[in-house]
Amino acid sequence: MRSKIVAGNWKMNKNLQETIYLVEDIASKLADTSAEVMVAPTFVNLSAAVSALESSKIEVVAQNMHFAESGAYTGEISAGMLKAIGIQSVIIGHSERRAYFGETDELLSKKVKAALENNLRVIFCFGEELADRQSGNHFTVVESQLKNALFSLSTGDWKNIVLAYEPVWAIGTGETASPEQAQEMHAFVRKTVAEGFNQGIADDVTILYGGSVKPGNAVEIFAKPDVDGGLIGGAALKTDDFLAIVNAI
Ligand code: PEP
Repeated sequence: MRSKIVAGNWKMNKNLQETIYLVEDIASKLADTSAEVMVAPTFVNLSAAVSALESSKIEVVAQNMHFAESGAYTGEISAGMLKAIGIQSVIIGHSERRAYFGETDELLSKKVKAALENNLRVIFCFGEELADRQSGNHFTVVESQLKNALFSLSTGDWKNIVLAYEPVWAIGTGETASPEQAQEMHAFVRKTVAEGFNQGIADDVTILYGGSVKPGNAVEIFAKPDVDGGLIGGAALKTDDFLAIVNAI
């Protein structure tokens, strides 16, 4: 079922004390909303955030995971470990993971499958680089990212998939895709999912936009019919900005 979601990706920011302070501050000021609100602190602070938000509707999600259940993968964290501390959702395929840690579509496909096998909901990120958009290849790039990582899933798997379109040129740059550019790509993504699976799955899948969403542009972006919410980076680290974006939905 399609939902409205605003998720904050905290990346490698906030130590333990800062994490507890920020989640408590956000929770105490969150107004009544029908949107799902999520925060994604770093691995080491997930447990503390889960405890601090026990009586809140805010969900704590992970920024990444490994595809294996356990074993000789120094420095990695498995889906089962996330589940064991109360995590229900995980971000997979963020462009920073692809760019700085060499995560390929093939690897991401394995991560998505492992997450779903462990009953984690996947927030799957994809999006073109600036050169792709400038050369007019943005639709082809996005289509292949989706096909390579998600098209071997079963139709039933899609109830646990959330898509996040994040054009790389708009992440952390202050440069936002226009609401029209976001809508155009989201509609294309829905069409691609309909062709690969069926119209019902395409209509039901939640598609977030991410890339320099701020209080000043969120209303316009979220107003587009195929934009179901946002994945928020920088603005998720300040209570007032994050909550203004939540309220924009
Ligand atoms: C992100 O990293 O997912 C993101 C959207 O970052 P920002 O909002 O800072 O562009």
